[in-house]
Amino acid sequence: MWKWTRSDNIQLLILDGDTLEEEFLTYPYSKDDKVIKTVVVTKSEKLTGHKNSIKFFDFYDLIHEIIEKEKCESYSIISISKDILFLKSMMEYHIGTILVGTLIYDFLKNIPDYTVQNINSIEKILNLDTKGYGAEIFATYSSSRKKMSLLHCNEFVMLDDGNERNVDLYFGGRYYANKHMYILNDPLSHIVKQFKSGYVKAVDLFFDSVCCYIARRENIDYFTYIPLKPNDIKEGKFDRFNSLQLSKLKKNNMQLDSILNCKEDFSQKGNDLYVRREIVKGAFEVIKDVENKTIVIIDDVFSSGSTILEAVKTLYEAGAKKVIAVLLSVNQLTESSIKYKNLKCNICGSNMKLRMNKSSGQLFFGCENYQEHENGKSSTIDLLSGMDTLKEINKLEVVDIVDLHDEF
Ligand SMILES: [Zn+2]
Repeated sequence: MWKWTRSDNIQLLILDGDTLEEEFLTYPYSKDDKVIKTVVVTKSEKLTGHKNSIKFFDFYDLIHEIIEKEKCESYSIISISKDILFLKSMMEYHIGTILVGTLIYDFLKNIPDYTVQNINSIEKILNLDTKGYGAEIFATYSSSRKKMSLLHCNEFVMLDDGNERNVDLYFGGRYYANKHMYILNDPLSHIVKQFKSGYVKAVDLFFDSVCCYIARRENIDYFTYIPLKPNDIKEGKFDRFNSLQLSKLKKNNMQLDSILNCKEDFSQKGNDLYVRREIVKGAFEVIKDVENKTIVIIDDVFSSGSTILEAVKTLYEAGAKKVIAVLLSVNQLTESSIKYKNLKCNICGSNMKLRMNKSSGQLFFGCENYQEHENGKSSTIDLLSGMDTLKEINKLEVVDIVDLHDEF
């Protein structure tokens, strides 16, 4: 899903001339049979032969120049590149991003809006605006099923005997933690937080759908999850994975099994990667025979990866044949210098936040007093209109530089 782009209003594509092949730079991209304007940008010395090209040094200047020259807003622009660092800079200025290629483990902290392999997929994204990462789609459209994709990447775990084993990691979408104040209104981030303390239908549907998808492709012996820590059990913490109904999976006679036990409490908050890996070492034990079994393990948030990779390692050490990990979301580190603006309630003027209708699972925007407002309904905004408005009010503002001579 587009984080900053209004899908009904795509007007310009920025093509990275330094990494994309010629076929990407010359292709007539279209939306609803109308050709979309493109601009090829390059940092290299050799000027491109394209009709509309810009040589640039600085991303901020480049985007300002494009917005002024092409007379469009940042929420109408999409950037396409093979270089994740190029796209990371675009994200900082609230420009939509499409990566051509595969996501690699080291860049999971800056996931673009879409990842594609070819031009055909770009055309599909431009024209089917609802396609996106699975969990982001389920969080946004609580009931209807849309075409969606999964983020995939490969990683290795090192066993105690020095052998490396492969693990396939599947991700549902992007998670923005509380410290990213500018992005508190993100549907997936909201439901990830809700899932810590109660059942969330969208999370259930996501895991059900992904587990069935994997089971159609290979024989899975066990589906399991990261277990609660001893202290969480003592304190009666919500047992989130056991709340999942996984009804499609059950129809196929499969279910979540408890395979791992957490032996000791550990906290990962605020530690660096090395410390996190050390802290979690040996935390799990296997309580079922997994010898020669193929196992899918699920968890909600992937931050450093230490917890899930330690669980995968424990399963391999116990003799598992293959382990696949499915994560609801990946913690993002995206930063932006643009000040984030919230939606304001038109009755009391306070900030509106995402809220969930407990019975339908549908998200909506409401201020903290919305239930006390007289026309309860008219003081809330539905999710999609709210997201569109947020994109509009959080666009990159082009500031006219006044002639200083006039001021003095
Ligand atoms: Zn209000």
